[in-house]
Amino acid sequence: MLKKIQGLLKGTLKYLRYQLLFQYKLGWLYDLLIQIKNSLFGARVRLEASSVCQLQCPACPTGTGANRGGVIGWGFLKFEGFKKIIDENPRVKRVELSNWGEIFLNPDLPEIIEYAYIKGVRLEALNGVNLNNVSDETLEFLVKYRFDCISVSLDGATHETYKIYRQKGNLYTVIRNIKRINHFKSEYQSSFPKLLWQFVVFGHNEHELPKARKMAKELGMSFRPKLNFEPTYSPVRDERYVKIESGLHVASRDEFLRKRKRAYLCPCTQLWDSPQINWDGKLLGCCVNRIGDFGNVFELGLNGALNTEVFRYAKRMVLGIEPPREDIPCISCEVYRTRMESSA
Ligand code: SF4
Repeated sequence: MLKKIQGLLKGTLKYLRYQLLFQYKLGWLYDLLIQIKNSLFGARVRLEASSVCQLQCPACPTGTGANRGGVIGWGFLKFEGFKKIIDENPRVKRVELSNWGEIFLNPDLPEIIEYAYIKGVRLEALNGVNLNNVSDETLEFLVKYRFDCISVSLDGATHETYKIYRQKGNLYTVIRNIKRINHFKSEYQSSFPKLLWQFVVFGHNEHELPKARKMAKELGMSFRPKLNFEPTYSPVRDERYVKIESGLHVASRDEFLRKRKRAYLCPCTQLWDSPQINWDGKLLGCCVNRIGDFGNVFELGLNGALNTEVFRYAKRMVLGIEPPREDIPCISCEVYRTRMESSA
């Protein structure tokens, strides 16, 4: 029963958040609803386990090296940092670990997984993992300690197609690791972690959508086609085919915006419902912010960092109820600029 109420509340908030925030600009009301949800069912944060990645995906700022010298940097979340945030914030019950890098490269990950289980915190890796380099011990820990859900980035159904974007990756290795997780799931008689096959649709892989969907089903994974975030890299070739085969009914994020009158993804809502924290403790606010930070959670505490004047101002600024300010990273963000231009 409690789970049903939780699901209903979460679904309603997810459905309403765009209207509440960007149509009616009721940030305070969304804040209040999130506080109620958090006090009933726990809060969710995004805490990057690794900004390091071994692949060289050509359209990714981690793969190209663009993130290394900036605010994201190159490093791993330490177990002590994870423990500090969990111990100091018992209301945090769900943590998304993936963002710019590959979480399985973090040497402290097994310890993090075990500690989260002990503290009753559900872990997610829904932004994506490449699952190319992971020890058998970690694969077993994912099942033994009930890691909640993992989205595996697999943009192809054959190795030849997969490696065009996931350069330095190996499809056969990834499939073998998925099968190992499934092996441990049957050994522990567990349905965790839930596995998703994330397929970013490019021009070079669109023909493999049906085959990938079939393979995902055989591996017990949900299939999730995703629109390419960098339209200049390998754009979709046969739009009509992609609309049908992906089930997305659109072939690009631009088309999504035109048809639905809202962005395909809206990371700004994370400022309210699941703030992004970098591996070194910097509060980034959302998962796409590579511009600047809002202070350090390890130094200010989570509540302290979320309640600084600058972070509270940023929330009002992205809604358009305060003018842009130079010290807020969002001022240089494409998402913010596009929204402000379209509402002008
Ligand atoms: S404006 Fe950009 S940087 Fe700011 S919260 Fe939204 S997506 Fe993130």
